Amino acid sequence: MNLSYWEIKTWLSNIDFTIVGSGIVGLNCALELKKKFPNSKILILEKGTLPQGASTKNAGFACFGSLSEIIDDLESHSEEEVFQLVKKRVDGLSLLRKTLGDEVIQYQNKGGYELFLSEDKELYDLCVGKQQYVNKLLKPIFKADVFSFKENLFNFNKIKPQYSFNQFEGQIDTGKMMEALLLKALKSGIKILNNTSVESFLEGTEQVEIKTNNFEFSTSKLLIATNGFASKLINQNVKPARAQVLVTEPIKNLHIKGTFHLDRGYYYFRNIDDRILLGGGRHLDFKTEETQEFGKTHIIQSKLDELLRTMILPNIDYKIDYQWSGIMGVGEQKSAIVKQLSNNVYCGVRLGGMGVAIGSLVGKELADLIA
Ligand SMILES: Cc1cc2nc3c(=O)[nH]c(=O)nc-3n(C[C@H](O)[C@H](O)[C@H](O)COP(=O)(O)OP(=O)(O)OC[C@H]3O[C@@H](n4cnc5c(N)ncnc54)[C@H](O)[C@@H]3O)c2cc1C
Repeated sequence: MNLSYWEIKTWLSNIDFTIVGSGIVGLNCALELKKKFPNSKILILEKGTLPQGASTKNAGFACFGSLSEIIDDLESHSEEEVFQLVKKRVDGLSLLRKTLGDEVIQYQNKGGYELFLSEDKELYDLCVGKQQYVNKLLKPIFKADVFSFKENLFNFNKIKPQYSFNQFEGQIDTGKMMEALLLKALKSGIKILNNTSVESFLEGTEQVEIKTNNFEFSTSKLLIATNGFASKLINQNVKPARAQVLVTEPIKNLHIKGTFHLDRGYYYFRNIDDRILLGGGRHLDFKTEETQEFGKTHIIQSKLDELLRTMILPNIDYKIDYQWSGIMGVGEQKSAIVKQLSNNVYCGVRLGGMGVAIGSLVGKELADLIA
């Protein structure tokens, strides 16, 4: 790309902070840096025309763990670790709501539900048995019982007659959240260049040289917020995980309201406008879904359709309107990796399926690595 004097002077010179990735982490990191260093020059590079990872693709659950997820986490983490993880998700959500405002992101507290398959007696009994124990563990955070059991009022099929209910779970409009974050960043004077993919970087003593698909330049500090794509630039324990989603056409008098977790969280669905959004099924084909390529597969999309037909919307006529996928960053541990990698390079990656909840906080923590 043959850049002009003006382009180089205005966009690509004397840059204090370059952030790779304009997802929820990159944008929050940039905003926090601007707050800490108001006179700094901040540049975000984004490979997509729109943010092109998970932040504009997700389901918009403002959640901190279903009952079975928390019980499962307690198998591999200490009580303290599980408590801290839930607290982080709760704190992250309150930071997101404070930063953008409930009306802007259309935060709604309609409650969260966990549905148990008719045949999954073992998991159901486990959750019933451990509910009080989990409520007690989380009481210091919520000052009330989080989980209770409710009758199947939405008339779902092929599930246990009662489901677990989380009175504190909410939902947001993902598009509105990302639009507001982008606007806030631009209004603060943060520069965002789309269709610009960072291909490599080389650290010198004072500066980091960056090579993109369009141009090369240097920056004082480089912050990498590329989540599921992290392995292309840095060597950290993050694997890509594709997640597929569909949305139905509008359904007349849709009676289902809330966020729903099904079959140990392998599937999730919610109402959005007067439609149903349904996602999940990665466990049907883990190996194929461990990819940085967007796409949908017959095995997963047909299972999602079957769930709609037989379980979620039995006897209701519906059509599928949209299908898409997003790429998450996952690892063996559930925690994000936020750290300094070398003198002038930092990363905040591996947000798993929790980025709506913890993304604002991880972005802030990434910025806070810089003194
Ligand atoms: C289908 C789906 C449903 C989900 N549902 C929920 C949910 O309900 N609740 C919840 O809390 N979380 C959910 N998540 C997870 C959540 O969306 C993510 O954890 C979060 O968006 C991660 O944000 P991020 O900024 O770290 O990464 P991303 O949003 O992936 O941002 C990384 C950005 O980096 C860019 N990039 C990558 N490499 C380069 C490069 N070399 N050069 C330039 N740019 C680059 C990408 O294009 C991308 O825009 C879901 C995820 C998916 C995919």
